[in-house]
Amino acid sequence: MTPLAHDVQHPLWRDTAPAGEDHPPLSGDHRADVTVIGAGFTGLRAALMLAEAGTRVIVLDAGDVGYGASGRTGGQVNPMLPFNTPNRLRALLGPVYFERLAQTSLGSADELFALIERYRIDCQPRQNGWLRVLHSPRALKEARAGMAAWNAFGAGMEEVDGATLAKLSGTTAYRAGVLTPRGGAVQPLALARGLAEAAKSRGAAIHGQSAVTTLERRDGAWHVRTARGAVTSDWVIVATNGYTGGLIPTLPRSILPVTPAQIATDPLPDEVISSILPGGHTISDSRRIIMYARREPDGRMIFGGLGQRGRDGRVGGFDWLARDAARVFPQLAQVRWRYRWSGVIALTDDHLPHLHEPEPGLLAGLGYNGRGVAMANVMGRVMAERVLGAAPETLPFPLSPIRAMPLRGARIAGMGSAIKVLRLLDRLETRPG
Ligand SMILES: Cc1cc2nc3c(=O)[nH]c(=O)nc-3n(C[C@H](O)[C@H](O)[C@H](O)COP(=O)(O)OP(=O)(O)OC[C@H]3O[C@@H](n4cnc5c(N)ncnc54)[C@H](O)[C@@H]3O)c2cc1C
Repeated sequence: MTPLAHDVQHPLWRDTAPAGEDHPPLSGDHRADVTVIGAGFTGLRAALMLAEAGTRVIVLDAGDVGYGASGRTGGQVNPMLPFNTPNRLRALLGPVYFERLAQTSLGSADELFALIERYRIDCQPRQNGWLRVLHSPRALKEARAGMAAWNAFGAGMEEVDGATLAKLSGTTAYRAGVLTPRGGAVQPLALARGLAEAAKSRGAAIHGQSAVTTLERRDGAWHVRTARGAVTSDWVIVATNGYTGGLIPTLPRSILPVTPAQIATDPLPDEVISSILPGGHTISDSRRIIMYARREPDGRMIFGGLGQRGRDGRVGGFDWLARDAARVFPQLAQVRWRYRWSGVIALTDDHLPHLHEPEPGLLAGLGYNGRGVAMANVMGRVMAERVLGAAPETLPFPLSPIRAMPLRGARIAGMGSAIKVLRLLDRLETRPG
């Protein structure tokens, strides 16, 4: 995998997570039941479940545990799929999978918090609720329609008026909001490391610095190679999401890689931070170019949005984020944003996570469209269930063929300009009045 220029950035999480264990590179020839490619939330959750079921699992990552988006994410555990309205989801999926996926995604935050508790993972889990704040009358109208539909499935969402929102969030930049009580946050690198330790303690082997360079099926088994080793297994799970390369040649063409970016402060004094998210809610907004933020128990502020990847691979947009943070929370106008980092995620054309089984014994699950903390965990669990014998028609995700995304090249080339236009539209809609 080509190193990404943003790898030199330093995510805050590396300074605040408990130290991780060593995961030496794969060396020599090995036999396993399952090879998992990618040690993020998806791959680690699959490995943990498989190891617990007594399956021999080897996890390989080009970097290390949490090297990809899982160790760089905003760590907001938001249930529900992004972008699609309930009506559109129903049209895309049909009634059976609509109902299944709606229930699964609404329960995805509870599922993750229960997993964390079960394995006693030390990752600062907190389920204080997620505030989605609405920037325009149109967004409010859409949110009300969505809320009625999701609450019919037991989402428990509540509308929050402007005055209450100001108290809960510390910002007056939004007209109203929706509170989803099941939302929360984790220290994501600590979660990834905790999942890895739980999987290892149940017998999984994990190797960092072990980029898989070839994947082929021979004599009824799968063979993967890294620079210094090889694994033969009955199943391979590809859990590479935004970092997907050409191991399955058609897979990268089915997703659009985008680069969310984040900034974080050192712990801030009480007089600066006390009015911001005092109840420990997470917050994100309804703009096309979204903002998301959280306040840490130690008084740090973390603010995120979308970065822009230049031709040289470097990611920009951090100064814009700092300006936006000061717009949303004027209390932060003078603070120093010491940390700046980004990572890569995968968008899909229909904005749904995709589960593929292109050949017998080969699974790929990806495409969380920026909402992967809870859903990657679900996908990992579901792929493990499939390996353990679940019939495809019983899974919450339909098994779908890998389809090339229309106009993908043009979308990648035009992303910088598109972000500028979308920001402008957001700004026009966000104008007071
Ligand atoms: C800055 C940022 C903020 C985000 N904020 C949120 C948020 O607040 N809430 C939310 O729900 N979601 C958020 N997301 C999205 C979420 O983090 C991801 O959807 C999720 O972490 C994906 O997990 P994953 O395990 O599928 O992939 P990743 O964690 O990206 O892991 C993929 C792994 O595959 C490895 N890999 C790739 N190719 C190979 C190969 N050939 N051989 C070996 N290994 C390979 C990579 O090294 C990488 O470690 C954010 C993402 C980013 C980047």
